[in-house]
Amino acid sequence: MGLGRSQIKCRECGKEIKDFKYTAMPEWDISEYLCGICYSKRLSEYYIKHEGKDKK
Ligand SMILES: [Zn+2]
Repeated sequence: MGLGRSQIKCRECGKEIKDFKYTAMPEWDISEYLCGICYSKRLSEYYIKHEGKDKK
């Protein structure tokens, strides 16, 4: 409190990002930051979707 530093919160889980903040890919249409966990989750979901489309 009173540090005058604004907290950056993860857009997905709402937790404060203390380490590295990840910028979402433009395809995700997210302008806020993501924490590492939510970012990797999103990333794998994104690639699973796209791989599924490419196959067949
Ligand atoms: Zn998160």
